[in-house]
Amino acid sequence: MSNTKSIEGMLLKAIGGLYFAETPLGILECKARGIFRKQNISPCAGDKVVITDISDTKGVVDKILPRKNSIIRPPLANLDYIVFVTSTCEPTPNLTLLDKFLAIAKYKDIKSIIAVTKLDLQKNAELIDIYKKSDAEFIEVDYDNPDSYMKLYDMISGKITAFTGNTGVGKSTLLNHIVKDLDLKTGEISQKLGRGRHTTRNVELFKIDNGGYIADTPGFSTFETQKYDIILKDELASCFPEFNEYEGKCRFLDCAHIKEKGCAVLEAVKSGEIPSSRHNSYVEMYEEAKLIKEWEIKK
Ligand code: ZN
Repeated sequence: MSNTKSIEGMLLKAIGGLYFAETPLGILECKARGIFRKQNISPCAGDKVVITDISDTKGVVDKILPRKNSIIRPPLANLDYIVFVTSTCEPTPNLTLLDKFLAIAKYKDIKSIIAVTKLDLQKNAELIDIYKKSDAEFIEVDYDNPDSYMKLYDMISGKITAFTGNTGVGKSTLLNHIVKDLDLKTGEISQKLGRGRHTTRNVELFKIDNGGYIADTPGFSTFETQKYDIILKDELASCFPEFNEYEGKCRFLDCAHIKEKGCAVLEAVKSGEIPSSRHNSYVEMYEEAKLIKEWEIKK
């Protein structure tokens, strides 16, 4: 049965030129119009799309609706939240990496949640102290107290959320507590695609029972952050919310808050108002951004 009507859907997964879209007709397996390649746009998970040429469970992605935001590695669109799973210790949190991701999320208008694990091994006080003036939300994960992680579950209800975190922080454990049947779902879809779970680096959105969609993203890395999702140096300070209150208070209007005389941000670092680790990450990102020309950044 074939018809010419079009419907809207959301892409859950892109793999080998095929796009799996959730639609009112169920999951449709779609190809994409050649025009996207010519325009250098790749449809990705999270994209809201218009599908035409529908026949049984197949269709064609005809149009990508305007994106609220997108990240390139891993490719995801229209994210509401990124959850940064961070352990208090074992492994010691990589704050520089965390700061980079928080800044990028801010830049792309994605809300950040820091989910802190392994509180039984070490208290969370230092992390809270460092990030209390950033605008990231904090979840202290305690598996003896379901309210702690169910708060996260409620926050991401009806939203599109990516989970990320270094190896060993307990991201899978957290996901399995929030989404009871995640493993099962992962297995099912992979089986349907005829591929093993570990053979693809593609990211996939899973619908969970609170109406939200989550992506488990092993793919974030420092290297790829630098290469793709870089923030222009002049826009960087606005991605560190704790710098806001000092805006316009530096001696020089074009102050970069690196080592300038009369810099209000540096004064605040000195007095402990701004944590020095946050400022160090800012300086590192600023130096990296200086090396990149605007035209080199892949949009
Ligand atoms: Zn300054």
